[in-house]
Amino acid sequence: MRIEQHISLRPFNTFGMEITAGSYLKLESKNQLPSIFKDKTIKHLVLGGGSNILFTKDYDGLVIHNHLKGITKTSEDKNYVTVTVGAGENWHSFVLHCLENNWFGIENLSLIPGTVGASPIQNIGAYGVEIKDVLKEVTYYSIPDNKFKTLKAEDCNLGYRNSIFKKELKNTFVITEVTFNLLKKFNPSITYGAISAVLEEKGIVSPTAKDVSNAVIEIRESKLPNPKEIGNAGSFFKNPVISVDQFNEVKQRFPQVVSYPVDATHVKIPAGWLIDQAGWKGTKRGEIGVHDRQALVLVNRGKGNGNDIKDLAYEIIADIKSTYGIELTPEVNIF
Ligand code: FAD
Ligand code: NAP
Repeated sequence: MRIEQHISLRPFNTFGMEITAGSYLKLESKNQLPSIFKDKTIKHLVLGGGSNILFTKDYDGLVIHNHLKGITKTSEDKNYVTVTVGAGENWHSFVLHCLENNWFGIENLSLIPGTVGASPIQNIGAYGVEIKDVLKEVTYYSIPDNKFKTLKAEDCNLGYRNSIFKKELKNTFVITEVTFNLLKKFNPSITYGAISAVLEEKGIVSPTAKDVSNAVIEIRESKLPNPKEIGNAGSFFKNPVISVDQFNEVKQRFPQVVSYPVDATHVKIPAGWLIDQAGWKGTKRGEIGVHDRQALVLVNRGKGNGNDIKDLAYEIIADIKSTYGIELTPEVNIF
């Protein structure tokens, strides 16, 4: 086990922040974990693809960079295959692997950056599909208990960009494997966003899973900045969910407001719409700012500073609160 000192994390976070880890370990075997946590109080950060993190300063603890690999089909019946995946596998590569093997259910989640191990933490989602829909169980090393535990999906409290890992278990675990139940028969979900329009444009009437994945990739590439070119962590804010009563008040003042029903008493408002309407889209502050095609995405165009992005985010939050009375919350983890 090789622990290195003063390692730059710039290549390992999609915002491209130039910060240093006090110490750094590339985790290649889960058997290393008990000795890493001999001291249970060691300050640590588990890093996957660094695509949901904003670093505002050097990290003065141990960064455990997840490289646990492996994709194994563990069982199969008439309708499903069960697949167990090492937490350090790249998410999009896993999606492509599933398509090659005719395992279905996550094609709408194509091109989401990051690792498989991080996927249950915020219950990643896009185009009407969430990890919740395919998750079987999560295996993790529990630091306080010094043992590996497996949590069934129904016990992970998966909600909109939320789970037990962001709340009750926060900072007490290292996810080592994630197990999925995937369909053997493709069941397309193409009503969300522009998927059906893109398929129609191509003259595709009965899409395959690969067609859907390609459509999602095409839409994402046209709307979202590629972190290899412009530093970002995807949507910086969650979409606010508000009561129907509050929504009616907002709608009186802003009749054009976009909304989607959540349940009988709540609606979701796209945070991107609020930020765009409030005039923030395309804001430039030196090297940082708000993306010009997607108001939900804060960007680092070069050698921007994490604190400047954080300050901009909180200025946007205050402005949206005073304009619409709606509280935005960051989706990105700020360190
Ligand atoms: P990291 O950023 O490395 O870590 C995120 C958090 O999880 C940190 O707190 C970290 O400590 C913790 N963590 C990571 N791995 C482990 C582990 N094995 N054990 C314990 N803790 C761990 N998200 C969506 O939901 N939907 C999208 O459509 C989407 N699109 C995106 C588009 C772009 C361009 C970008 C840059 C990001 C997007 N995201 C999206 C956000 C991000 O990709 C996901 O949240 C992803 O799951 C983060 O994975 P990661 O490995 O990069 O996590
Ligand atoms: P979009 O299709 O322009 O839609 C804007 C917003 O409206 C989205 O936030 C989406 O909410 C909501 N929406 C659209 N159609 C909906 C429907 N039929 N039912 C319910 N809600 C609907 O969004 P986009 O920005 O291009 O992103 C496309 C998808 O990729 C979205 O699902 C988004 O969440 C996901 N994405 C996530 C991140 C991230 O970092 N988290 C980054 C980029 C894209 P939802 O967000 O709840 O889906």
